[in-house]
Amino acid sequence: MSEIISQIINKDQLSKADLIHLLSLEGDDRDFFLRESGNKYIENLGNKVYYRGLVEFSNYCTKDCYYCGIRKGNPNAERYEIDDKSIIEAAKFAHENHYGSVVLQAGERSDDAFTKRITNILKEIKNVTNGEVGITISLGEQTEETYREWFEAGAHRYLLRIETSNKDLYYKIHPENKNHNFEDRLNCIHTLQKIGYQTGTGVMIGLPFQEIEQLANDLLFFKAMNIDMVGMGPFIEHTETPLYQHKDKLWSLQRRFDVSLNMIAALRLLMPNINIAAATALQAIDPMGREKALRYGANVIMPNITPTLHRKDYTLYENKPCTDEGAEDCSNCLSIRVEMAGRKVGLDEWGDSKHYFNRTSGKQ
Ligand code: SAH
Repeated sequence: MSEIISQIINKDQLSKADLIHLLSLEGDDRDFFLRESGNKYIENLGNKVYYRGLVEFSNYCTKDCYYCGIRKGNPNAERYEIDDKSIIEAAKFAHENHYGSVVLQAGERSDDAFTKRITNILKEIKNVTNGEVGITISLGEQTEETYREWFEAGAHRYLLRIETSNKDLYYKIHPENKNHNFEDRLNCIHTLQKIGYQTGTGVMIGLPFQEIEQLANDLLFFKAMNIDMVGMGPFIEHTETPLYQHKDKLWSLQRRFDVSLNMIAALRLLMPNINIAAATALQAIDPMGREKALRYGANVIMPNITPTLHRKDYTLYENKPCTDEGAEDCSNCLSIRVEMAGRKVGLDEWGDSKHYFNRTSGKQ
């Protein structure tokens, strides 16, 4: 068995059948796959892990995704909005602590007041950090004009998860209406690439109705889309959402976790020089979840630097880790964790996706 796995690991081109094989591994075979592919990856890409200080600055949202705890239709979500000054303070904290980059994430809004406000915040962050902090944003679907305005204001990476690349499944986890349209979301990804962002996407793993074959297709989708960064993690049900009614159809949390690590390791074989994030949701299942991801393929980790007062309210899913500690605690705890995973933090570096530079110079 381990011979077949070694053969797959050493192939130049992975087929869909190979991916399905890897994603389905369990027990000793799985351990062998993760260990061997993890070693290959560190040999190729090196030992460095990059920090992105994560600021989840608002949970107001105009969307109604069936899986998400901060969906518009959840009357029990305690809504909050962090003011500009505190967001900029958080970015300064990241800068002073040598994080290299920040990620600004929030529920989705596209009204003028919101888009202009983001433009100002981006400029101000660049200003107060002498242009030294790299900025990733994850603010959902916007017009080309807005994406351009934010790019010009200083954001250079954008994360927009496709959530699943399977259209049928997409409409099982979203309402089918003009506010939630699969093609629109796909077009947004193309637009981000056209504008010049390092472009990230991703999926949830272990959704109700999802099959291993669809996950293999998700990986091939990232490759076909020539994506620069991926953030993907386990789906975790939230009691106050419509998808909760399907909880009996879900894989066990452990299986969702295991398949998530298989996905990360397989993606690293498929796309050796992209950035892959160790998603926070991994840690909601296993206290060492993100460190395991770093060992097997992830090279980006996102310490939460949201002011603590509001952390507990960005509850996309329940059991979210680290909602009760401050940014300082988080940073100490994380650097120890990264070292435990045998990796080294690339301090003061943007840690851009190598894939992006190859893509934009026409190499791949
Ligand atoms: N408004 C932004 C950010 C969304 S929240 C946008 O549309 O891109 C960030 C990610 O959290 C989502 O893309 C989704 O993949 C993930 N997420 C939401 N609910 C989740 C759940 N119940 N379990 C796991 N991940 C979830």
